[in-house]
Amino acid sequence: MMRAVVLNEEGGPEVLVIEDVDRPEPGPGEVRVRLKAASLNHLDIWIRKGMPSVTKPRVTGADGAGIINAVGEGIDEQRTGDNVLIDPAITCGKCRACTSGNTVACRQFHVLGEHRAGTHAEYVIVPVENVHITPVHLDDESAAALPLTFATSWRMLHTRAQLQPGERLLIWGASSGVGSAAIVLAKKMGAEIIAVSRSDYKLKICKVMGADHVINMSTDDVVKSVKEITGGEGVNVVFDHLGDAVYKNSLRMLAIGGRFVTCGATTGANPPAAITSLFWKQLSVLGSTMATKDDFASMVRFVRLHELMPRVDRVFDLEEIVDAHTYLEGAQQVGKVVINLS
Ligand SMILES: [Zn+2]
Repeated sequence: MMRAVVLNEEGGPEVLVIEDVDRPEPGPGEVRVRLKAASLNHLDIWIRKGMPSVTKPRVTGADGAGIINAVGEGIDEQRTGDNVLIDPAITCGKCRACTSGNTVACRQFHVLGEHRAGTHAEYVIVPVENVHITPVHLDDESAAALPLTFATSWRMLHTRAQLQPGERLLIWGASSGVGSAAIVLAKKMGAEIIAVSRSDYKLKICKVMGADHVINMSTDDVVKSVKEITGGEGVNVVFDHLGDAVYKNSLRMLAIGGRFVTCGATTGANPPAAITSLFWKQLSVLGSTMATKDDFASMVRFVRLHELMPRVDRVFDLEEIVDAHTYLEGAQQVGKVVINLS
C-alpha cells in the first residue's frame, strides 16, 4: 500500500483526502518512482475544482522527484536507484506529432494528476522517457519544484519567443510559478528583465532572483515606467499568463518586431485583437502550452549547466495538503509550494 492524496469529488481544498491505496506496479516500458518531494501548480487547483478531463477517484499532482525503485519489462534493472525528476507530460510516442518531435501536438497528450495517477503520493508510475537524472546541485525539494513551471517558461522564452542576449523582457505576474521560473531562466539567457507584480514584498524577492527593474502594477503606471526604463524604445518580449488585464498595454510597450508570448489568461481570454498594432509594429503573438520532450530535456540541460535554482517558497507535509492548496490559492507565495514526501 501507499499513502496518496485522492480527489473523490470536486470542491474546495477540504475535498482532498489522504488515503491508503494500492502501490502501483510498472508495466512494460515504465518505471516506479519512490517520490521524495512533489510540488503544487495552479493546474492542481483547477483539477480539484473540476475539469472534464479528470475521472475520479484521482491521485493528484503533476510535479515530483525521487528515486526509481522498480522497473517494468524492457527497462534496464540498472536504472533502479537513479535519482530522477519527472516530466509530467505523457504522449503516445507513435503518432506523427510524436515521431516528428512536436509532442505538444499529440492527440493523446496526458498530464500526471489530470489524466492518470499523479505525484502527490509515495509512488508514481511513468514511462521511462519521462524521467530525467536530477542535476546534482538540486535537493529533492528543488528538483520537485522544477518540472512544469521551468519547462513551460523555457518553451515560452527559448523555443517560442527565441529570447536573445541583451533583449529586454517584461514579465507579468513575475512572482508566480512560471513568472519566477522566467526570471531565473531569462537572467541566464542574458536578457534585461522588468518584473511586474502587485506587491512590493514580492518584487523585492524578484529583484534578488535576478530582475533588473521592478514595477508594482497596483501603484505604478506600468506603461509609463517601461517608457522611462527603456528610454522610449519599449521591450522586445512580453511574457504573460494574465490575458485581458494586460494584453492591450503589452502591445503598447512592445518595441518594433516585439513578441507577446502567453501560456494563460487568468484575468480573461478575449482582449481586443488590436490588429493595427500587430501589423504596424511587426509584432508576433505566440501561444505556448507546457513543453515538448525536447524542450524538457534541453531545459534540464540548461539548469544543470548553469546550476539554476527554482525558488521554493514553502514546504508542507503530505498530511497538510489541504493547507498547501489553501496557501497556493491565497497567492501569497513567490515561487513554488512543495510537498515533502521523504
Ligand atoms: Zn502522439
